[in-house]
Amino acid sequence: MSLVDYFKENFPKLRESRNQLRFECPFCKHRGKTFAVYIETFSVHCFYAECLYHKSVMQFIMDFEGLNYSEAFLRLKEYQRSFILPQKEHRDLTLSEHEGKFMSLSEIKKPYPLSARNSLLYLTKRCVTLEQIEKYRLGYRLDVRGQVQIVFPIYDIENKLRAWIERTLTGIYRVYPLGINKGHLFFGLQIAKGYQTIVLCEGAFDVFAIGENALGILGKSLSDMQFAQLLALKPKRNFIIVLDGDANKEAFRIVFKLSKYREVKVLMLDSKVDPADVRKSIQSKIVKESKSIGDFYSEKIKITCN
Ligand SMILES: [Zn+2]
Repeated sequence: MSLVDYFKENFPKLRESRNQLRFECPFCKHRGKTFAVYIETFSVHCFYAECLYHKSVMQFIMDFEGLNYSEAFLRLKEYQRSFILPQKEHRDLTLSEHEGKFMSLSEIKKPYPLSARNSLLYLTKRCVTLEQIEKYRLGYRLDVRGQVQIVFPIYDIENKLRAWIERTLTGIYRVYPLGINKGHLFFGLQIAKGYQTIVLCEGAFDVFAIGENALGILGKSLSDMQFAQLLALKPKRNFIIVLDGDANKEAFRIVFKLSKYREVKVLMLDSKVDPADVRKSIQSKIVKESKSIGDFYSEKIKITCN
């Protein structure tokens, strides 16, 4: 058994040549064998220009099978007993090769192209301010089909562009580059990291509604990778969890996970309420109504005693 067998089992139609395997990319699914595995360098690359997935084999297995690092390591060991991991194994590629592929909305000059005007109009309709557009470096681009995509760039703690969320004017989202694991990323980290109390919310529009100390977890759950990043912040931060009203269970799951290590509060919203919709009152609600787990329990006891 070897690494080659791993790919043969998962991609039976692959073409094998010296030191290289080729098959259809599992992420962009572009027709043709655009996806290459380089056995010697332990890396993979998709040649389709709209995809350009490029990672180590380890990272590929994590993304492809949805595994964490240690799970992927064990998985690989089933196939290859001994191998030397390349040194930069833990490094995800930063987005340098994608940079410049979208236009920043705050840098465009009048007269605005129609696509930029539509993007701006959409954002301001959803109460995103011009200051936020500039601060979060929101942008736009035309995709291969000429469709306008509003771009919400995702930076890591070192201000490196790692990915972006793009959204059509009709509301179809995807994370770019295709195939990147969004469970490793946050929206707004480069700004929220400046605050002692960080509000964890779901997406970019929640971040805009709540304010600069808000951090979008890009979903309703906190991955192990995100969890580790939050605990790694120095000095230690406090957290307030504010998910949509339909996600109270998920909010509590995050509270329990984090509260073993950090001071955590949670704001429970009414179901069907999305923080972005209660924009004006959300900040005062967070201040006045967020509670720690202890508060919840003592209230429950009071109710049972009365
Ligand atoms: Zn691809």
